[in-house]
This record gives sequence, structure tokens and C-alpha cells, in this order.
Amino acid sequence: MTTLIKGGTVVSATGSSLADVLVDGETIAAVLAPGSTALGPINADTVIDATGKYVIPGGIDAHTHMEMPFGGTQASDTFETGTTAAAWGGTTTIVDFVVQAHGQRVQDQVALWHEKAGGNCAIDYAFHQIIGEVDADSLKAMDELIDEGITSFKLFMAYPGVFLSSDGQILQAMQKAAGNGGLIMMHCENGSAIDVLVQQALERGETTPYYHGITRPWQAEQEATHRAVMLADLTGAPLYVVHVSAKQALARIAEARNAGQNVFGETCPQYLYLSLEENLGAPGFEGAKWVCSTPLRARAEGHQDELWKYIRTGDVTTVSTDHCPFCMKDQKEMGIGNFAKIPNGIGSVEHRLDLLYQGVHDGRISLERWVDVCCTTPARMFGLYGKKGVIAPGADADIVVYDPNGHTSIGLGKSHHMNMDYSAWEGYEVDGHVDVVLSRGTVIKDETGFVGRTGHGQFVKRGLSQNLI
Ligand SMILES: [Zn+2]
Ligand SMILES: [Zn+2]
Repeated sequence: MTTLIKGGTVVSATGSSLADVLVDGETIAAVLAPGSTALGPINADTVIDATGKYVIPGGIDAHTHMEMPFGGTQASDTFETGTTAAAWGGTTTIVDFVVQAHGQRVQDQVALWHEKAGGNCAIDYAFHQIIGEVDADSLKAMDELIDEGITSFKLFMAYPGVFLSSDGQILQAMQKAAGNGGLIMMHCENGSAIDVLVQQALERGETTPYYHGITRPWQAEQEATHRAVMLADLTGAPLYVVHVSAKQALARIAEARNAGQNVFGETCPQYLYLSLEENLGAPGFEGAKWVCSTPLRARAEGHQDELWKYIRTGDVTTVSTDHCPFCMKDQKEMGIGNFAKIPNGIGSVEHRLDLLYQGVHDGRISLERWVDVCCTTPARMFGLYGKKGVIAPGADADIVVYDPNGHTSIGLGKSHHMNMDYSAWEGYEVDGHVDVVLSRGTVIKDETGFVGRTGHGQFVKRGLSQNLI
């Protein structure tokens, strides 16, 4: 079974050129100059006309939480619905988080996540491991998981009593990663300080979603980021700071990078577009739609523009979604009268490529940088490159045909296939469109819509990071 994607502009992280892409089975067989006769006449079984369109590697969303348990409920997208929505938006691989909270065993949780995802995904998937309790057993598991293709470990400086690790525990986990080649991912917010601010706000009667943002100030993010950077420096562990929203935290990351440290920053579309004032501060309980941690920041302080800048400079290494959707009904509503009870998370897995492409259209980032932060560097960062993240012979044929002259209207009843009763992106209009999506050589989305199937997606064992200095 061969497919020829003809007439398009192949865009990589380093350049763009007119080329035809020949797919044979599940992998890319050749990238050919237009009209090339190098392989003789090509009689592909299927021809996809990509004239006037971009041909890019499938998106890799390195930060998702399908059906994640949180505060007595769970994220509303299952692996089936979430990966199907991802396919609609041109994402062909997710890296989801196995959760170990206090009192749970890492290896039991890994088995549980394999059970949840196995046979249920429309696109390929891999795992990171959340280490909620650093002890002898979980430290041992970190070695075992490297061999099982789970090569990155998320620790928390927030959520005391659930996920928070002490500085001593963080140090131990970082020493382990420095030894076994793993990557430490860090949720950088000072959780103990935040818990006090939350309690004080509630006592003052400040209970609306807006105060979720007010009680998680940028100082708490920058302070934790600094602490993580220093502990990484001390131990020699590589550090990937997840979902950065404060410009001050990114400045600290940039400083560490300038000093030659293996420190990387991730941000998400919500921090580039949405804000404390306009979204968390929406009237009544509306702001609950945008409660996530780290929180949306004040536009008056200029975080959003600064974050775009850091994508250009390379200090934002990847853009993921932190996809963790909850419905308003029965889920977000748990926090009416107490913002601290609102499940934390926003659903965006379907919209990342489009929302970032809008940055290309608006002149904020280059076409190549778009592909780099959404597709190629996530692959390199998380040990998938070569198989994923690149259009080259031998790579998996995960390919998106993107129409720069197309249009995407986001919102309920428009583009919205995530299992949520609202869209955090209602009313957003994007000057581009995902036309065709291939996953390992199979068309899973075309102009008629989703044409893939549940269970097509396979677990991908990852290698060590290919992006370290
Ligand atoms: Zn987090
Ligand atoms: Zn997350």
C-alpha cells in the first residue's frame, strides 16, 4: 500500500521546499524533488494532492492527561475521545502522564495506565511518569521505567499532601535521573505558600474563579523555578519546566540556558492567548472554564507577548497543551462558592497546531519554528526523533497536510470534538486548516472528517532525550 503526497511544500524545523512524499506501508519511503525520476514512474495506490499546502510532520503533544483522576472526579476525555480529538487537529502522538500520588506504587500505576490506554487510542501514545512520592520503591522504579520506554519523570513543587515533593526528595530524584539518563520534568509553583494564600482568600470571602489566579502569583512560580534550576545544577540532572506561564519564570530559564545548563521551558496555547483579566475574571462562575495551574497571567503585566518572544529565542523549547479537560456541569461546578474546589485543567489537544499556526499568520513566529515547537523538538526532547517528528525516509508516516489558505472556526458545534460541554476557545478564528492527517501511513482524518479508528494507536517506547547539551 503506497501513498504519494504530491505538490506540497514540505516544512521542517530548519527549512521548507517543494517536494513529494512517498509513503510505503507505515513509513516514509522517499522525499522527492517535484518531477523527480530518480525512482522511475511512481504508481502509488493513493495520491493526495497537496498543491498550495504545507506538508509537515504529525504534531506531538508531549503533555496530556486523559481520564486523569483529580479531586474526586476525572478528566472528561478518555484515551479514546481525547486521541480522536487530537487526530482532528493534526496531532499524531501524545505523551500522557502515568499518575503516582502519595500512597500508590509506581509500577502498579504504570500497569493501570497501560490498561486504560491499550487498544483505546486513535493515535500513537507514550507515557511520562508522575512521581508523587519519592521513596526507595519509586526511585528503583525510575531505573526500571527507563528500560520500559518511560524516560521522563514529573515532580511537583505544588499540591502538598497529594503530589508535592520536598526539596530533599527532589534532590534524590534528580540524582537518580542524573545517573540513569532520565529527564526531570517539574511543576514549578511554591505549593506551601500558595495553600496559605488560598486559605486567607477564602476566609476573606474571595471565592470566585478569579482568585485562583490571584492566589497563585508569578512570584510563587518564579521562586519554584529558581529552586528547581539550582537543584538541577547541583545534581547535574536535565530539567524540563512544564507549563510555564510567568515571564519571570521564563527569564530564569533563559538565564540558566545562557549559562549552559540543560534546562528547558514548555508553554501552552492558553498562556499565549488567554489572560487573568479576560478569562479567569469573566462574570459570575464563567471563569471556572479557565482554571488551570499554573494559572493564566495578567495581560496588563505583558506575560503573553513575552512568552511568544521566548518561543522565538528558543527558550521555550516546546509548546504542549497540558490537556486536562473537565465539563462545567458536575465537574467545574464543584467549585461554586470555593474556587479551590474547581478541578484544574483546560482542554486544547485538538487546537494546538491551529492556535500556533495563527502565530505564524500574525508574524509572531516563523513557519519553521511552528513545526519545531509543535512536532520536531518534542520528538527530540522525549526520545522519539527519527521515528517521529520528521519527514524523512524511514520515519513513521505521521504527516499533516495543512492549508494556509483554509480557515478553522473553533467552538461548540464547529471545530470541537473533545468530550467537554464548553470550549475554552469559543469564538477563536484561525487562518489555517488541518486538511489531511496520516498516522503510520493510514489516513485518519480527511476533508470528510475523522476516518481513523479506536485501537489504531500503539504504545511507543521512548529512548533517552536527544535534546541535551
Ligand atoms: Zn503541572
Ligand atoms: Zn499537566
